[in-house]
Amino acid sequence: MTEFEFIRTFLLSQQDGDVLLGIGDDAAIVRPRTGYDLCFSSDMLVLGRHFFAEVAPADLAHKVLAVNVSDMAAMGATPRWVLLSAAFPQLDKDWLKAFCGSLFEQMRRYGITLIGGDTTRGDLVFNITIIGELPCGLGLKRSSAKVGDDIWVSGSVGMAAAALDGYLGKIRLPEKVWQACKTKLLRPVPRVDLGKSLLNLAHAAQDVSDGLAQDLGHILDASGVGAQLWTDQLPVLPDLRNCVEKRDLLKWQLSGGDDYELLFTAPEALRNQILAASEICATPVTRVGKILAETGLHIFDGAGCEIRLDKMGFDHFD
Ligand code: ADP
Ligand code: MG
Repeated sequence: MTEFEFIRTFLLSQQDGDVLLGIGDDAAIVRPRTGYDLCFSSDMLVLGRHFFAEVAPADLAHKVLAVNVSDMAAMGATPRWVLLSAAFPQLDKDWLKAFCGSLFEQMRRYGITLIGGDTTRGDLVFNITIIGELPCGLGLKRSSAKVGDDIWVSGSVGMAAAALDGYLGKIRLPEKVWQACKTKLLRPVPRVDLGKSLLNLAHAAQDVSDGLAQDLGHILDASGVGAQLWTDQLPVLPDLRNCVEKRDLLKWQLSGGDDYELLFTAPEALRNQILAASEICATPVTRVGKILAETGLHIFDGAGCEIRLDKMGFDHFD
């Protein structure tokens, strides 16, 4: 099929009263609701680097959108609109049908409208630009952690990295655990509701995409503070913990990526309110450390011994 058949057939215009001009013109026009600021982010996924060639198109679409929605969640923003730029080696109708079906299903789930993009021939690459709304003046930044804050993380960390090692043949997990880890890697669930409910509770936040230790480091650097992190508190599927080497688990949890959980800091006095918000959003949260005045990240095991990490996370140019 041609580029224009693709746009006509699959990139249907959705109903959205705040889109004044959608797909079909040179650019889109949107109107944020009164009382909201706009919040922008973009994330790219490249074949061979972020996903395998064999990945199912429906899983790929899920992930391309989810990683972008997760950036909105980390800001406490409500995702509203996306632009999708993509390079395809060829326009295969069945592949695109599965991809777009999954993409639009996910967009409906979050109330997101596709308002434009670009399509070209090339090795498989996707870039989504996402636009969200934030109540005027609010937004969860990396630079606002305060000394004495608790450090929290949502859901669980390390399962996606375990699945990646499974795909790479480095480990073999029992079937049930393998399926659960694969789902975390292929179909991450961005924590939008939790992010929004943290707007008036958390000091600093970010999503965990490149490994917990490295991502926490970003908050510490931006805020000019340090932290203690307690590895025995890091949340993970108990069945995974029980069937792997402690060392592997630690590596996945601290240096693995692709979790798309929220990492945030908040005053001790708000513990109960944070637990209540977590309950309402049906998203578990766990306290995993403490913000300190002295800079640097100190990681401790269950016995209180400090752990040194040689590799703190994923860097594409390492
Ligand atoms: P232009 O020549 O301005 O780049 P195009 O002919 O490439 O416009 O695209 C026509 C319309 O289709 C535009 O509104 C553009 O935003 C939209 N579009 C093209 N590719 C995509 C895509 N992959 N996803 C969403 N919208 C797209
Ligand atoms: Mg174009």
